[in-house]
Amino acid sequence: MRILAIPCLTDNYAYLVVCETSGLSALVDASEAGPVIDAARAAGLAPRAIWSTHHHHDHVGGNEEVARALGVADVLGHVSDRGRIPGQTRFLDTGDTFTLGALEIRTQHIPGHTLGAIAYIVRDPATGETALFTGDTLFCAGCGRLFEGTPAQMHASLQSLAAVGPAARVYCGHEYTEGNLRFAKHVEPTNAAVDAAMARAHALRANGEPTIATRIEDELATNPFLRVRSAEIRRTLGIAEGADDATALGAIRSAKDGFRG
Ligand SMILES: [Zn+2]
Repeated sequence: MRILAIPCLTDNYAYLVVCETSGLSALVDASEAGPVIDAARAAGLAPRAIWSTHHHHDHVGGNEEVARALGVADVLGHVSDRGRIPGQTRFLDTGDTFTLGALEIRTQHIPGHTLGAIAYIVRDPATGETALFTGDTLFCAGCGRLFEGTPAQMHASLQSLAAVGPAARVYCGHEYTEGNLRFAKHVEPTNAAVDAAMARAHALRANGEPTIATRIEDELATNPFLRVRSAEIRRTLGIAEGADDATALGAIRSAKDGFRG
Protein backbone atom coordinates (compact mmCIF):
# COMPACT_ATOMS: atom_id res chain seq x y z
CA MET A 1 0.00 0.00 0.00
CA ARG A 2 1.16 3.50 -0.83
CA ILE A 3 -0.41 6.61 0.66
CA LEU A 4 0.09 10.15 -0.64
CA ALA A 5 -0.92 13.10 1.52
CA ILE A 6 -2.35 16.02 -0.50
CA PRO A 7 -2.31 19.37 1.35
CA CYS A 8 -5.58 21.26 0.73
CA LEU A 9 -7.12 24.56 1.87
CA THR A 10 -5.29 25.98 4.93
CA ASP A 11 -4.33 22.84 6.85
CA ASN A 12 -6.45 19.97 5.48
CA TYR A 13 -5.16 16.71 4.09
CA ALA A 14 -6.76 14.66 1.36
CA TYR A 15 -5.13 11.30 0.62
CA LEU A 16 -4.56 8.98 -2.28
CA VAL A 17 -4.52 5.30 -1.29
CA VAL A 18 -2.87 3.03 -3.82
CA CYS A 19 -2.83 -0.75 -4.05
CA GLU A 20 0.61 -1.40 -5.48
CA THR A 21 -0.34 -4.91 -6.61
CA SER A 22 -3.25 -3.86 -8.83
CA GLY A 23 -2.51 -0.18 -9.40
CA LEU A 24 -6.03 0.65 -8.21
CA SER A 25 -6.47 3.77 -6.10
CA ALA A 26 -9.01 5.73 -4.06
CA LEU A 27 -9.22 9.22 -2.59
CA VAL A 28 -9.92 10.05 1.02
CA ASP A 29 -11.71 13.41 1.54
CA ALA A 30 -11.75 15.50 -1.62
CA SER A 31 -11.39 18.72 0.39
CA GLU A 32 -11.01 20.96 -2.66
CA ALA A 33 -10.91 20.02 -6.29
CA GLY A 34 -7.74 21.65 -7.65
CA PRO A 35 -4.98 20.08 -5.54
CA VAL A 36 -6.70 16.68 -5.50
CA ILE A 37 -7.13 16.51 -9.28
CA ASP A 38 -3.56 17.76 -9.82
CA ALA A 39 -2.10 15.21 -7.38
CA ALA A 40 -3.97 12.29 -8.96
CA ARG A 41 -2.90 13.32 -12.47
CA ALA A 42 0.71 13.92 -11.42
CA ALA A 43 0.81 10.42 -9.93
CA GLY A 44 -0.80 8.94 -13.06
CA LEU A 45 -3.71 7.62 -11.01
CA ALA A 46 -7.42 7.29 -11.82
CA PRO A 47 -9.06 6.80 -8.42
CA ARG A 48 -12.33 4.90 -8.70
CA ALA A 49 -13.85 6.11 -5.41
CA ILE A 50 -13.87 8.96 -2.90
CA TRP A 51 -14.06 7.85 0.72
CA SER A 52 -15.59 10.75 2.69
CA THR A 53 -14.94 10.75 6.45
CA HIS A 54 -17.72 13.23 7.37
CA HIS A 55 -19.96 15.89 5.87
CA HIS A 56 -18.01 19.08 6.68
CA HIS A 57 -17.36 21.25 3.65
CA ASP A 58 -13.59 21.25 4.12
CA HIS A 59 -13.68 17.46 3.61
CA VAL A 60 -16.27 17.05 0.84
CA GLY A 61 -16.18 20.43 -0.95
CA GLY A 62 -14.36 18.96 -3.96
CA ASN A 63 -16.41 15.74 -4.29
CA GLU A 64 -18.50 16.59 -7.33
CA GLU A 65 -15.84 18.40 -9.34
CA VAL A 66 -13.22 15.72 -8.59
CA ALA A 67 -15.67 12.95 -9.50
CA ARG A 68 -16.43 14.64 -12.83
CA ALA A 69 -12.81 15.45 -13.67
CA LEU A 70 -11.33 12.06 -12.77
CA GLY A 71 -14.28 9.81 -13.66
CA VAL A 72 -14.76 8.64 -10.08
CA ALA A 73 -17.65 6.17 -9.89
CA ASP A 74 -18.47 6.02 -6.19
CA VAL A 75 -18.58 8.40 -3.23
CA LEU A 76 -18.65 6.61 0.12
CA GLY A 77 -19.83 7.90 3.48
CA HIS A 78 -21.78 6.92 6.58
CA VAL A 79 -25.41 5.92 6.09
CA SER A 80 -26.57 8.78 8.33
CA ASP A 81 -24.79 11.39 6.17
CA ARG A 82 -27.28 10.80 3.34
CA GLY A 83 -28.08 14.25 1.94
CA ARG A 84 -25.06 15.85 3.60
CA ILE A 85 -22.22 14.44 1.45
CA PRO A 86 -22.29 15.75 -2.14
CA GLY A 87 -22.45 12.97 -4.72
CA GLN A 88 -22.68 10.16 -2.14
CA THR A 89 -23.51 6.81 -3.78
CA ARG A 90 -22.67 4.32 -1.00
CA PHE A 91 -24.05 4.38 2.53
CA LEU A 92 -21.87 2.52 5.02
CA ASP A 93 -21.85 1.63 8.70
CA THR A 94 -19.70 -0.21 11.24
CA GLY A 95 -18.40 -3.53 9.94
CA ASP A 96 -18.99 -2.98 6.22
CA THR A 97 -16.11 -4.37 4.16
CA PHE A 98 -14.87 -3.93 0.61
CA THR A 99 -11.60 -4.22 -1.29
CA LEU A 100 -9.34 -1.98 -3.35
CA GLY A 101 -7.35 -4.45 -5.40
CA ALA A 102 -5.50 -6.53 -2.79
CA LEU A 103 -6.24 -4.08 0.06
CA GLU A 104 -8.97 -4.97 2.56
CA ILE A 105 -11.06 -2.11 3.93
CA ARG A 106 -13.40 -2.12 6.92
CA THR A 107 -15.50 0.85 8.03
CA GLN A 108 -16.16 1.95 11.61
CA HIS A 109 -18.78 4.52 12.67
CA ILE A 110 -17.01 7.03 14.92
CA PRO A 111 -19.52 9.68 16.05
CA GLY A 112 -18.39 12.61 18.20
CA HIS A 113 -17.05 15.42 15.99
CA THR A 114 -20.11 14.83 13.78
CA LEU A 115 -22.78 12.15 14.15
CA GLY A 116 -22.01 10.60 10.75
CA ALA A 117 -18.21 10.40 11.07
CA ILE A 118 -16.76 7.16 9.73
CA ALA A 119 -13.26 5.70 9.69
CA TYR A 120 -11.75 3.66 6.86
CA ILE A 121 -9.46 0.94 8.18
CA VAL A 122 -7.21 -0.34 5.40
CA ARG A 123 -5.19 -3.54 5.74
CA ASP A 124 -2.54 -4.68 3.32
CA PRO A 125 -2.37 -8.48 3.65
CA ALA A 126 0.95 -8.55 1.76
CA THR A 127 2.79 -6.44 4.35
CA GLY A 128 0.52 -6.69 7.41
CA GLU A 129 0.34 -2.86 7.50
CA THR A 130 -2.83 -1.11 8.64
CA ALA A 131 -3.76 2.52 7.92
CA LEU A 132 -6.59 4.37 9.68
CA PHE A 133 -8.28 7.31 7.99
CA THR A 134 -9.83 9.09 10.93
CA GLY A 135 -11.06 12.43 9.51
CA ASP A 136 -11.58 14.95 12.30
CA THR A 137 -12.27 12.38 15.03
CA LEU A 138 -8.76 11.24 16.01
CA PHE A 139 -6.00 13.74 15.22
CA CYS A 140 -2.32 13.25 15.86
CA ALA A 141 -2.12 14.22 19.56
CA GLY A 142 -5.72 15.43 19.67
CA CYS A 143 -9.36 14.94 18.70
CA GLY A 144 -11.96 17.00 16.85
CA ARG A 145 -14.34 19.44 18.49
CA LEU A 146 -17.68 18.03 19.61
CA PHE A 147 -19.92 19.81 17.09
CA GLU A 148 -22.65 17.15 17.07
CA GLY A 149 -21.77 14.32 19.44
CA THR A 150 -21.27 13.85 23.17
CA PRO A 151 -18.08 13.23 25.17
CA ALA A 152 -19.25 9.63 25.71
CA GLN A 153 -19.60 9.09 21.95
CA MET A 154 -16.18 10.60 21.26
CA HIS A 155 -14.62 8.47 23.99
CA ALA A 156 -16.14 5.27 22.57
CA SER A 157 -15.09 6.24 19.03
CA LEU A 158 -11.49 6.96 20.03
CA GLN A 159 -11.30 3.69 21.96
CA SER A 160 -12.61 1.78 18.93
CA LEU A 161 -9.83 3.31 16.80
CA ALA A 162 -7.16 2.56 19.42
CA ALA A 163 -8.38 -1.05 19.49
CA VAL A 164 -7.32 -1.54 15.86
CA GLY A 165 -3.82 -2.12 17.19
CA PRO A 166 -0.62 -0.37 18.31
CA ALA A 167 1.15 -0.49 14.93
CA ALA A 168 -1.75 0.96 12.91
CA ARG A 169 -0.91 4.29 11.30
CA VAL A 170 -3.16 7.33 11.78
CA TYR A 171 -3.97 9.51 8.75
CA CYS A 172 -6.10 12.38 10.02
CA GLY A 173 -7.86 15.31 8.37
CA HIS A 174 -5.76 18.28 9.49
CA GLU A 175 -2.20 19.36 10.25
CA TYR A 176 -2.94 20.30 13.86
CA THR A 177 -0.16 18.26 15.46
CA GLU A 178 2.07 21.02 16.87
CA GLY A 179 -0.84 22.91 18.48
CA ASN A 180 -2.23 19.64 19.85
CA LEU A 181 1.14 18.77 21.38
CA ARG A 182 1.39 22.21 23.02
CA PHE A 183 -1.89 21.43 24.76
CA ALA A 184 -0.69 17.90 25.64
CA LYS A 185 2.41 19.42 27.24
CA HIS A 186 0.26 21.93 29.14
CA VAL A 187 -1.95 19.24 30.70
CA GLU A 188 0.77 16.59 31.20
CA PRO A 189 4.05 18.48 31.61
CA THR A 190 6.17 15.51 32.77
CA ASN A 191 5.21 13.20 29.86
CA ALA A 192 8.54 12.64 28.05
CA ALA A 193 6.77 11.05 25.06
CA VAL A 194 5.09 14.41 24.40
CA ASP A 195 8.50 16.13 24.31
CA ALA A 196 9.81 13.55 21.84
CA ALA A 197 6.72 13.91 19.64
CA MET A 198 7.09 17.71 19.72
CA ALA A 199 10.73 17.50 18.60
CA ARG A 200 9.74 15.17 15.75
CA ALA A 201 6.84 17.42 14.67
CA HIS A 202 8.96 20.60 14.73
CA ALA A 203 11.68 18.95 12.62
CA LEU A 204 9.16 17.74 10.02
CA ARG A 205 7.33 21.07 9.81
CA ALA A 206 10.62 22.98 9.55
CA ASN A 207 11.21 20.94 6.36
CA GLY A 208 7.68 21.63 5.13
CA GLU A 209 6.71 17.98 5.60
CA PRO A 210 3.47 16.61 7.12
CA THR A 211 3.59 15.19 10.65
CA ILE A 212 1.32 12.41 9.37
CA ALA A 213 1.35 9.51 10.10
CA THR A 214 1.87 8.54 13.70
CA ARG A 215 1.06 5.09 15.05
CA ILE A 216 -1.70 4.23 17.51
CA GLU A 217 1.02 3.36 20.07
CA ASP A 218 2.33 6.97 19.76
CA GLU A 219 -1.19 8.30 20.29
CA LEU A 220 -1.67 6.14 23.39
CA ALA A 221 1.57 7.62 24.78
CA THR A 222 0.89 11.29 23.95
CA ASN A 223 -2.74 12.06 23.08
CA PRO A 224 -4.62 13.53 26.10
CA PHE A 225 -7.93 12.26 24.68
CA LEU A 226 -6.62 8.68 24.84
CA ARG A 227 -5.08 9.33 28.27
CA VAL A 228 -8.22 10.28 30.19
CA ARG A 229 -7.06 8.25 33.21
CA SER A 230 -3.70 10.06 33.52
CA ALA A 231 -3.43 11.27 37.12
CA GLU A 232 -1.35 14.25 35.97
CA ILE A 233 -3.92 15.37 33.39
CA ARG A 234 -6.70 15.03 35.96
CA ARG A 235 -4.70 17.02 38.51
CA THR A 236 -3.88 19.79 36.02
CA LEU A 237 -7.51 20.22 34.96
CA GLY A 238 -9.13 19.57 38.35
CA ILE A 239 -10.94 16.42 37.18
CA ALA A 240 -11.98 14.22 40.13
CA GLU A 241 -10.00 11.00 40.53
CA GLY A 242 -13.23 9.02 40.49
CA ALA A 243 -14.76 10.75 37.45
CA ASP A 244 -15.64 8.34 34.65
CA ASP A 245 -13.71 8.34 31.37
CA ALA A 246 -16.34 10.19 29.33
CA THR A 247 -16.62 12.93 31.96
CA ALA A 248 -12.83 13.30 31.95
CA LEU A 249 -12.78 13.47 28.15
CA GLY A 250 -15.45 16.17 28.19
CA ALA A 251 -13.40 18.23 30.65
CA ILE A 252 -10.21 17.80 28.57
CA ARG A 253 -12.11 18.80 25.40
CA SER A 254 -13.50 21.93 27.10
CA ALA A 255 -10.02 22.88 28.31
CA LYS A 256 -8.64 22.43 24.77
CA ASP A 257 -11.46 24.57 23.31
CA GLY A 258 -10.34 27.42 25.56
CA PHE A 259 -6.57 26.80 25.28
CA ARG A 260 -4.50 29.53 23.72
CA GLY A 261 -1.03 28.06 23.68
ZN1 LIG B 1 -14.85 18.41 10.48
